[in-house]
Parts: sequence; structure tokens; C-alpha cells
Amino acid sequence: MPSIFERRESRIRSYCRSFPTVFTTARGAELGNAEGRTWIDFLCGAGAVNYGHNPPELKGALISYLEEDGLVHGLDMHSEAKQTFLQVFERLILLPRKLDYRIQFTGPTGTNAVEAAFKLARKVTGRRQIVSFTHGYHGLTLGALAATGNRHYRQVAGGSMGDVTILPFDGWMPGLDSLAMLERYITDPSSGLDLPAAVVVETVQGEGGINVASTDWLRGLASLCRRYGILLIIDDIQAGCGRTGTFFSFERAGIVPDMVTLSKSIGGYGLPMALVLMRPDLDVWEPAEHTGTFRGNNLAFVAAAAALETFWSDDRLTTTIAERSRELSTSLDAIAARHPTKLTRRGIGMMQGLICADPKRAGAISRRAFADGLIIECAGAHDEVVKAMPPLTISAEDLARGCAILSGAVDTALAVAG
Ligand code: PMP
Repeated sequence: MPSIFERRESRIRSYCRSFPTVFTTARGAELGNAEGRTWIDFLCGAGAVNYGHNPPELKGALISYLEEDGLVHGLDMHSEAKQTFLQVFERLILLPRKLDYRIQFTGPTGTNAVEAAFKLARKVTGRRQIVSFTHGYHGLTLGALAATGNRHYRQVAGGSMGDVTILPFDGWMPGLDSLAMLERYITDPSSGLDLPAAVVVETVQGEGGINVASTDWLRGLASLCRRYGILLIIDDIQAGCGRTGTFFSFERAGIVPDMVTLSKSIGGYGLPMALVLMRPDLDVWEPAEHTGTFRGNNLAFVAAAAALETFWSDDRLTTTIAERSRELSTSLDAIAARHPTKLTRRGIGMMQGLICADPKRAGAISRRAFADGLIIECAGAHDEVVKAMPPLTISAEDLARGCAILSGAVDTALAVAG
């Protein structure tokens, strides 16, 4: 008898195919099922639970809020929970980094924040063209999908995806100066590229396979955008909220984007929330021009504020991320060193991957890891990257345990391959 999921849930289901069990519990870096089996989680809701599952400080804040009958759904009406979030975000994130942004709450998915950023860039500049980059992932609603490279998603768009041009990302083609190429496209009036309203980029491409843009490239891109009056949108939906070592992933390059999209872990507890940060002078929206029913998820505001207070009011988390990242790199390097012709490591912070020379091996490694107690997914154009994204708060012991399982899974999967 097929399960209720097979009988009733659409064939669209995906992660559950890679990790076939029925999960019941989630604590810190561990997920569990009803039979008492546990898995270390190196997937972390694709970056949506950077602080681990059910972090106690956040859980306490949520439970108290519910017990006091705090407003849960409020459209975009002012609520105390939103007020607190804005105050905490200003105090702990914006002011210490000398950043001055307005904050737009969009519908609670990353793709909706990207849609809003694109619309605003087009409205502000009066231009339509957006430039994104090869292997980029910005979401799957039509506007954002136009900027997403992967054919698997693009081929079912079923509608027009105009006004976005995808150009080479840093390192996409060895030897190519992709910034010089972009500049030539912009300056040559017969290049076929209209002057863009905005450029959108991930500083580390997550779904695209952990491709890290160099700081030089990011600085060059920012200055190029400034020179030609093009808005720079950093899509920090996956790489933000500490994943690469700092709250914003662009801090390592010392650049200040015109707009930033955030989602996934900004909700703190895996609760849906998305936002666009914009330079104040870009905030030319008329009320409700980009509206939506679920822009006021107050539970997410409560968890998000508690997450910022708990993890970003001092430098303890950044210190921990630096330590765990080094341990993760060391472990992955050791695994890759045992299979020098088959594996390489790349990535920064807690966003790293093992790249398989034979793409099929990545899936085999992930399957084997799941059988052995580790949840880890594959990414990249050919799903060739085994992508390690443990919680930022994982203990050294749990990280070592996860890496040991991964190491064994790699040896098994590659040995079978011969
Ligand atoms: N941008 C980036 C960089 C992402 O990683 C994702 C999700 N993987 C999105 C946008 C889209 O977010 P969502 O799935 O919440 O729409």
C-alpha cells in the first residue's frame, strides 16, 4: 500500500525523496523519526534554520507570546512584535555596520522579496533590464525565475521571462574577465543589452553549487554599478544571516549594496519571513504597490528579534562560526585528499561543498550518508556538489560526528564506483 504521501501529495515533492522517512522531532543539529532514529542535519532547511532546530531561547519567546495571546496575523498593521523586531534590527544589525536602509516586508518567501526588489529597481530607474549571473538562483516565481539560471526550473516557466540577461559569474569560464565583459556589454551601444536597472548577485551561490565570488570581483562589480548608475542588489537569502561568517555575506568585501534581499534564517526559527533592505532614497513605493496577505507574520518577528538578541548582540556567534568553519574545511579537505582525482572542496564559512568529478557520485554520497545518519543535499548545475550547511550553532562534537558519517559515505560511494 503506497503511503498517504505517495497517494495524495503531488509528484512535485522533492527533498522527501532524498530523505525518505517521516520526521517527528528536531532539536539543535538533530532530526528524529518516530522509531527513534536520529540524523545530523547538514541541510538546515536549505539555510532556513541557521540557529539549529527549536533553539530554546527563541522557543521560550514564542511560547510566551502565544500564551499572552499576542497578535499572530496582522497584515502589515503595526504590532508590538514588528516594532520590537525593527528596533532590534536597527540596533544590532544596521547601526553597528553603519548601514542605512529602509525595510520592506514582502510576502514571506525569498522569491517574493526578489520580485519586490526587481520591481522597485525598475520603478526607480525607469529601466527594465536586470542582469543576473550564470548558476544564480533567485527563486521560481516568473520575475525571479527569469534571473535563475537552472534549465530544470526555467523549462516549466510556461510564460514569458523577459527583461533579464544572465551573464558570466566570477570564475564561470576560466580565463574570462567577466567584469570587463559586463562593462563592454554596458558601454557598447550595439551590444544588445539595454542599460540595466539593476544587477542581482549572490556573493556565494548556494543552489548553484557553492560558487564563491572573490572580494575583488564583488568590489569591482559594486564600483561598476556605481559608475553606470545601476543598482546593486545582493541576494543574501541563503548566504546571509551568518552563513558565510558575518551577518551579511557582503561584509567580507566591504561593499554597500543598494538593496539586499533576506529570507530563510531571518525568521530565526524557520518561520516564514522575507524582506528587502533598500537605500532610503530608493523607497519610492506608493502604499501597497507590492502588497500581500502574509507580510505580518508576528511569530516570525518575535523569533527573529529573539534570534538577533541571542546570537548577534556580541561576537560569540561569529567566533564560533569561524572555529566551526575551520573544522569543517579541515574535515572536507581530509576527505578530498583521500580522493584527489574525484573530489575537491570549495566554499567559505558554514557553506561548503565537495565537488564530485563524476556528478552521479554526489547523489550516491548523499544517499549513503542518509542511511548512515546524516542529512546532506546536492547542489550545482549537474547536482555534482555535496553541500554541507550545518547549523551555525552546531557543537564541535556534532560537527565531527556529521563529518565522520560523510567521510564514511564518501569512501563507500566512491569505492562502489571503482
Ligand atoms: N534566493 C536565493 C539565493 C535562494 O537560495 C533562494 C532559495 N533557495 C531563493 C532566492 C528563493 O527563496 P524561496 O524558496 O523562499 O522562494
